[in-house]
Parts: sequence; C-alpha cells; structure tokens
Amino acid sequence: MNKAEYLIIGFGKGGKTLAAALGKTSSVILFEQDPKMYGGTCINVACIPTKALVEQALLSAKLGGSYAERNARYASAIEKKGVLTGKLRDKNYHKLADNPNIQVIDGKASFVDARHVEANGIVYEGNKIIINTGARPFVPPLPGVNLPNIYVSETLLDRPSLPKHLLIVGGGYIGLEFASMYLNFGSEVTMLQVEPTFLAREDEEVAKAIEDDFAKRGLKLYKSVTTEGFEEKKGIVTTKALIEGKETLFESDAVLIATGRRPNIEGLALEKAGVALTERGAVKVNEHNQTSVPNIYAVGDVVGGLQFTYISLDDSRIVLAALNGGSRTSLNRGAVPYSVFIDPPFSRIGLSEKDARAKGEVLVGKIPANSIPKAHILGQSNGLLKVLVDPKSHEILGAHLYCAESHEMINLIKLAMDHHIPYEDLRDEIYTHPTMSEAFNDLFASVK
Ligand SMILES: Cc1cc2nc3c(=O)[nH]c(=O)nc-3n(C[C@H](O)[C@H](O)[C@H](O)COP(=O)(O)OP(=O)(O)OC[C@H]3O[C@@H](n4cnc5c(N)ncnc54)[C@H](O)[C@@H]3O)c2cc1C
Repeated sequence: MNKAEYLIIGFGKGGKTLAAALGKTSSVILFEQDPKMYGGTCINVACIPTKALVEQALLSAKLGGSYAERNARYASAIEKKGVLTGKLRDKNYHKLADNPNIQVIDGKASFVDARHVEANGIVYEGNKIIINTGARPFVPPLPGVNLPNIYVSETLLDRPSLPKHLLIVGGGYIGLEFASMYLNFGSEVTMLQVEPTFLAREDEEVAKAIEDDFAKRGLKLYKSVTTEGFEEKKGIVTTKALIEGKETLFESDAVLIATGRRPNIEGLALEKAGVALTERGAVKVNEHNQTSVPNIYAVGDVVGGLQFTYISLDDSRIVLAALNGGSRTSLNRGAVPYSVFIDPPFSRIGLSEKDARAKGEVLVGKIPANSIPKAHILGQSNGLLKVLVDPKSHEILGAHLYCAESHEMINLIKLAMDHHIPYEDLRDEIYTHPTMSEAFNDLFASVK
C-alpha cells in the first residue's frame, strides 16, 4: 500500500513518538534514509552514546594510569557504546515496524507535492505529512577539512583509539562536552573558539567558574581564533589559525569540528510542496508546529529552534494537540532547561543575572558546591549554584547550577517555575539526605 493517513519523514524523536501514537488508530508510513539511524540522532550518535562515554570517562579518570591503560579502557568504552546503541536501535525499530498500521520504509524521501512523497522511485500519498529530518554538523569549507583525522561528533564516537591530543574547533556545548570527556579519558585537549568570550550566553559568574575549572583540568582554550585550515602528515594534523593577527600552528592526532548543526532540508524538495523556510534555512512553523502548508507539520531540529531531544518530543505533543484538538502549543511550553554534561555538569533555566537586572530588581542566591555534603561523597565538590528571584512575586527567574547531578536538580526548578511556586517553598521543603537537591535549602536561604 502506497497510501496512508500520515507520512512521516525521518525516524527521530518527534517522528517516532508521533508514529507510535498515531499508529494506534491510523495508517502511518515512516521513511528513514539510513538503517543505522532507526530511532534517530539521539540514541545512535548523540545524547545516549555521548553520555555513556561521559560516564566511562569519569570511571577512567578515577583509575588513571598510563596511556596504554587509558587507551584500552577507551577502546572498551567505544565498543560498549556500540552494543548499547545497537540494542536501542533494534528496540526502536520493532516498536514501530511490528505495528501492522505502520510501514517503515528504508529510503530518502523527497516531496512530489503537498500530499505526495517519493522514495526509492515509488510515490506515496498521505493526507498529512510530518517532517522530522533533524540536523547535521555544519562543517566550514576550510582547506584540508576532509582529512582522515578530522572528525565531527558522530565520527569521533567511532574512533577506536584514544587521541593523545585532541584539538576542538568550536567553543559551544557539544565541543565542551567532548573536551570534558576526553580530558577525563586522558587526552590533552586544545579548544579554539571564534568568540572573544567563553560561554558568552551564560551567566558571567558561572561561566567564569566553569572556565577556571577547565583551565585547572588542563584545557588549553584560545579565544577570538580564526581557524584557517588543516594539513596532515603521518597521522598528525597541523591546524593553522589566526590569533590576534598572528598565524599560529597546532599539532594534534585528532581534530573535532564542533561548529554547530544545520537543519536537514537538502534533497527534501520542500519547494515542490510549497513549504516555506526561515531566513536561517530551517522549516518555518507556527506555534502548532504547522508549516506554511496546512496539512504539513515539522518537528525537532529541522525547525531551527532549541536543538534538544526533549524539544523534539515536546513538538510531537504540540502536533498531537493540533491534530486532536488539545491546547498545547510552543507558546505555552514554559521555560526550557538544558544541561551540558561536563564535569561536574552545568544546567540552566531562565534568565542570567545580567538579563534579569535589565528587566528590573532582582534577588540573588548563591552557594559554592563544596558546601554540599553529597558533592564530597561524589568526589565532585567544585562548582557554583546560583538562582535569581523576582522580589515582588518571589518566583524564580533563573537558575544556574554548575554542580554534580545538576541535570536532575534543574527539572525540579522547571516544575517550580511552571507552577509559579515561590522560592520559599523550595527553601523550606524536606529533601532526602544526603542528596544534591537538599542544597536547595541553603541555596534559597541565601537569597537576598
Ligand atoms: C553530540 C551530541 C550530543 C547531544 N546531546 C544531547 C543531550 O544530551 N540531550 C539532548 O536533549 N539533546 C542532545 N543533543 C541534541 C539531540 O541529539 C537532537 O536535538 C535530537 O536528536 C534531534 O532529534 P530530531 O527529532 O530532530 O531528529 P533526529 O533524531 O535527528 O532524526 C532525524 C532522522 O531523519 C532522517 N532523515 C533525514 N533526512 C531524511 C530524508 N530526506 N528521508 C528519510 N529520512 C531522513 C535522519 O537519518 C535521522 O535519522 C545532542 C546532539 C549531539 C550532536
């Protein structure tokens, strides 16, 4: 059957969630261009494998030892990660493909018109179409950028040997996660960032604490750098860069290009369906994730918003609401938290102190992570926790948690913010002990 109620292009988080929900009662055809990507970017080449390696890197750092010992642990971690992603891929595939209402087609899909999609030379018809094609690394067209030891995040994850020296081009969140992970595995790490300020969008005080800790851990960070190109001889890459007008050369056995990700729209022939794009080349959607063509929706990284798995998931809730008459839209999703899995992790929601002050009066609370007993138990006692509170409503305006387990703690703050809970409730709450979240007693008691 080449006809279904719903055609879904891409097996990502939003697409697979919609396929499972819609496939309970309706016919669905889902297209995936790469069988190694069933389940999407997150489980195959991004969140899950990187966080599995982050944990293995923490263990390896505790054990220490020679390069040979660390390299052996690294190779085993890469292998384990492959087993894990393989299991998840298989589970994801069967969750959809075993449903008789859902057909999974291996093939790259492109639009024929607003109701038809073509893959492998066959045309499929659908009443509604959902685009979930994700994003891919942006690789600047620099001389030598395709040399063998130059990687993007997903290819570096398959390198079986530990780089002795990793050079990272890009000072964003993905670059920082890799920097932290490879430092823990035992690589020397150099980072070249084009921006003059480290983590320029983050709260200044917290960004400074993170930068200082990275320096202590041995990260060589260069700011205001223009990377000019690469040469490689006998496995050693020479990176040419311009720093303060001076040409500088860096040698490393691996280079990671982490210069952002762009929406995957190439080859989709969106113009044939009349789907409009944003100025930045993403699929343009309204607050219901509906494109400029009423029967076509788009979810996840391809719409050019915040690039997180849980945003793609939330987009799928919004589309379900649009299809079934619910009230969820991207305008009522509340503040969006995020975590960067460095060591210790950094998590944030809401405004920075500077942005909060630009809007008016603000109360500030902060404590060092070394005041939290659990941080010592975990052996991660560095860090800083900071919150911003509205003096009138007593509601939380922002939280910047650079401490162990912050990726768990930030979700509690999101709940408090969404439900307009005054900060005193978190201050006076009972928390189990010893935990990182009990730090909210002291953190919110420090608000002034
Ligand atoms: C290294 C790294 C670490 C990350 N860590 C985290 C994290 O810890 N937490 C977090 O929340 N987010 C993280 N992210 C971001 C997260 O991975 C993405 O936001 C999320 O996976 C996007 O999912 P999606 O639903 O947009 O689509 P994707 O999961 O990207 O799926 C899109 C699918 O569409 C397929 N496709 C593309 N074009 C076509 C076509 N024409 N026809 C058929 N199929 C097609 C692709 O092959 C792909 O399988 C990370 C990203 C990276 C790169």
